[in-house]
Amino acid sequence: MKKKIKILIIGGGMAGLACSHLLNQIPETEIILIEQNSFLGAGVKTHWYGGHPFTFGPRYFLTKKMEVYEYFNKLIPLRSCNDIELISYVEQDDQFYNYPLHLDDVERMPDKDKIKEELKNREKSFKPTNLKDYWIGSVGKTLYEKVIDKYNKKMWQVEDNTEIDTFSWSPKGATIKKKNSKKSAWDGSYSGYPYAKDGYNQYFEIATKDTTVLFNSKVRIIDLKNKIFKINDKEKEKFDIVISSSSPDLIMDNIYGELPYIGRDLHKMVIPIEFVLPKHAYFVSYPNNEKFTRITEYKKFTHHKSPTSLIGLEIPSSNGRYYPLPQKKWHRLAKKYIDDFPEGMYSVGRNGSYFYTLDIDDCIYQAMLIKKDIENNTIKSGIPGKDYDFDVRI
Ligand SMILES: Cc1cc2nc3c(=O)[nH]c(=O)nc-3n(C[C@H](O)[C@H](O)[C@H](O)COP(=O)(O)OP(=O)(O)OC[C@H]3O[C@@H](n4cnc5c(N)ncnc54)[C@H](O)[C@@H]3O)c2cc1C
Repeated sequence: MKKKIKILIIGGGMAGLACSHLLNQIPETEIILIEQNSFLGAGVKTHWYGGHPFTFGPRYFLTKKMEVYEYFNKLIPLRSCNDIELISYVEQDDQFYNYPLHLDDVERMPDKDKIKEELKNREKSFKPTNLKDYWIGSVGKTLYEKVIDKYNKKMWQVEDNTEIDTFSWSPKGATIKKKNSKKSAWDGSYSGYPYAKDGYNQYFEIATKDTTVLFNSKVRIIDLKNKIFKINDKEKEKFDIVISSSSPDLIMDNIYGELPYIGRDLHKMVIPIEFVLPKHAYFVSYPNNEKFTRITEYKKFTHHKSPTSLIGLEIPSSNGRYYPLPQKKWHRLAKKYIDDFPEGMYSVGRNGSYFYTLDIDDCIYQAMLIKKDIENNTIKSGIPGKDYDFDVRI
């Protein structure tokens, strides 16, 4: 009889779940998934408040990768939200503007002449080294100060955006969109949200149907090189493949120091009106002095029928490890941890890859890549996928 491939998955968020589902499609795999909480899905799990379904933040499905969209859509059918528009409220103008910035909106700005002059005088080939210089070089100082500056300072809890020394993740498709072009945020991407009332929840069951799931569980490395682990207080066990979606510093007992994250507080409010935001606006960003970064109107995604509407308001905080910092020094520290992973030990998902850019679709894509590695017997280590490689961010 063929020997079983023993696989350990650490974490039951989207990354761990996608690995569980896809690797179970390979014959002769035996998979254990451990989750420190008592439920699967982490922030993409749908909960209810005042009868309204909601997730922790917007969590819509967005991808440029057709194979990822098709894979997920087949299991959990997605209602398109390609019309999605992001808007920002700029207090100094008392106006809502499109995000990405749009030249049509500039026409509505009280300081439009100054902005146009700055746009005209942009240097063609500038070489920014930080977020501030990148945006000033792209759209000029006035637009930067209106929409980008304070939002990023509160998002990343920095005094100055020169502290943020990576920025390719920053524009949502374009820095500034051309006149008369579409207002929607992500040209060339598929975006959708599950039709199901319970959002992504049914995927958690589908993905773990053939997996042993251990809740409220912890894992400890006994022998990293040989992939020997101890789960809770059970006997130590050797695995052929280990996939961690946990932050590498946690897995490795902080040996090189802690990786920092920005947390989030989510406040929920039911408003006595059927729709709060304009038709195509699903959420609004606030780039001013208020403490919150954005609000989400959940029923825009969920199509929940109700005479009231649920709004989620997000405030950056120290609660939770949600946003890996987009600073090279922390990417280098994450790399130091992950470089120690032996062959057959992968680090996936947002925290596992220590990459803010990594969304739901990327978690699935990474699982697809690991599946290919196992099928083709080209087992590797570290973060799967060139797009997430440290070389592209350090
Ligand atoms: C507020 C917010 C809004 C977002 N909105 C969107 C969006 O609209 N669209 C989109 O595509 N993406 C969005 N994202 C990002 C996306 O949701 C995440 O990239 C993705 O869900 C991450 O999945 P993950 O499995 O990597 O991590 P997580 O969701 O963090 O799951 C990790 C799981 O592992 C468990 N775990 C961690 N360490 C251990 C351990 N040592 N032992 C056992 N268990 C452990 C955790 O308890 C958790 O259940 C958003 C993120 C946030 C924070």
